[in-house]
Amino acid sequence: MDIKKLIRDVPDFPIKGIVFKDITTLIKNAEGFDYTLDKLYNLCNNKGITKVVGIESRGFIFGGALAHKLGAGFVPIRKPGKLPADTIKFTYELEYGSDSIEIHKDALDKNDKVLLHDDLLATGGTMEAACNLVEKLGARIELISFVIELDFLKGREKLKNYQVHSLIHYDSE
Ligand code: AMP
Repeated sequence: MDIKKLIRDVPDFPIKGIVFKDITTLIKNAEGFDYTLDKLYNLCNNKGITKVVGIESRGFIFGGALAHKLGAGFVPIRKPGKLPADTIKFTYELEYGSDSIEIHKDALDKNDKVLLHDDLLATGGTMEAACNLVEKLGARIELISFVIELDFLKGREKLKNYQVHSLIHYDSE
């Protein structure tokens, strides 16, 4: 199966000049969902993963399903103000301004082996911030997985201390 054929390009979303990679067309297709989930599962099976950490919000879709398949727990990383109990926050720079993400303080501990998951790797700022939160809680990052990687934005360079896998790659927009 060709996953790329099920991903929709939406030009100029959310702002002019960005080609948004829309996975809703992939996940509404039962065979596409199943195939993609199996491919992700094969990357991280047999690694002793205890928690899958998914990034809001598209990282929750395959992240949650993967946790179930692995027999691991699921931990959400969310935008500020969304998680109800005590959190830690990490703020990172964007081209213009900054952004923050949070995780519950008691979500992970030093015994956890983590798979970090998001739908797409662009500049890598979001995932780098997520790595920071996971490591602040003392957990070990075993693997980082994405469905899509935009190679031309070189996000992987920010993640060179980790094992990173993406199912599909685009080398230009
Ligand atoms: P970054 O921090 O630049 O790696 O951006 C990654 C986050 O932004 C992920 O959560 C993606 O879902 C989202 N994102 C960035 N660029 C795109 C794009 N072209 N299409 C879809 N999602 C994107």
